[in-house]
Amino acid sequence: MTAELIKGAQVAKEIREELKQEIAELKEKHNVVPGLVTVLVGADPASQVYVGQKEKTSQELGIYSERYDLPENTTQEELMKLIDKLNKDPKINGILVQLPLPKHLNEEEVLYAIDPEKDVDGFHPVNVGKLMIGEPHYLPCTPAGIQQLLIRSGTQIEGAEVVVVGRSNIVGKPIANILLQKAPGANATVTVVHTRTKDMAFHTKRADILIVAAGVANYIKADMVKEGAVVIDVGVNEIGKTADGKRILAGDVEFESVKEKASKITPVPGGVGPMTITMLMMNTVRAAKLAAGIA
Ligand code: NAP
Repeated sequence: MTAELIKGAQVAKEIREELKQEIAELKEKHNVVPGLVTVLVGADPASQVYVGQKEKTSQELGIYSERYDLPENTTQEELMKLIDKLNKDPKINGILVQLPLPKHLNEEEVLYAIDPEKDVDGFHPVNVGKLMIGEPHYLPCTPAGIQQLLIRSGTQIEGAEVVVVGRSNIVGKPIANILLQKAPGANATVTVVHTRTKDMAFHTKRADILIVAAGVANYIKADMVKEGAVVIDVGVNEIGKTADGKRILAGDVEFESVKEKASKITPVPGGVGPMTITMLMMNTVRAAKLAAGIA
């Protein structure tokens, strides 16, 4: 069997079309324009690319966007003042501080200062806690994108054995919590494994849905996967450069062998990656609707 590809780029495009329509209607019927601000400190080239993509996508969808490019030597006090100003700005529904921040800044203090109502990244402890107790407010973007890929590819989630490889706060733990919810598109039986897990293959081979976010290139081989499993590869690992200097990427799953065993699989690139920004846009639209009292 060769697995069906779950094409994240295509799913992301579909969701963006839906959002574009929703944003146009919000403006027409309610005179509401969702607003997203991105804050970048320093000149890290990868962060500049990410912020640029977020700004471009916002504009394409009709989201009002603002961008702050702050110098590397910005102080904690200056950044906290900016967050405070943005928290109070009614044009802004979502605040995104691009991580990582330069070493001299206290990342936690900055993220925790964002108004939870404007925390469209879903990293504020209030929003993490709400997800944990089954009252999700804003879902973190990459895990929310994974759930959408599962739903929109027609994967049976309810009752499925889900195994998540990795327990980070941005992918592993939140996707486990999302799929554990007593809610449609969830209701799974979830196991989370990590570096201290005794027998990795024992768990991964039980998975109807295997979600891998370890950050180790080609870690999951075919003999660790159950026949017919749905495999979501979150990993993005640079394994070399082409002659013209472009990055060669590999996922955490050995794609060529695992695709012969799985029923569905996400490619890298073009799988989970394109969903993240799209879910940020979805959260921003939700934030604008909540701020305007639209259900
Ligand atoms: P992370 O913070 O480094 O966490 C990795 C997790 O995997 C840790 O919990 C670690 O276990 C576990 N792990 C590492 N090696 C392992 C091994 N050999 N066996 C079992 N578990 C292992 O990484 P992350 O931020 O979650 O990111 C994971 C991957 O996803 C990276 O490749 C990253 O680039 C990618 N990613 C992609 C997107 C996207 O596409 N939009 C977004 C976020 C991340 P311990 O806790 O025991 O150390």
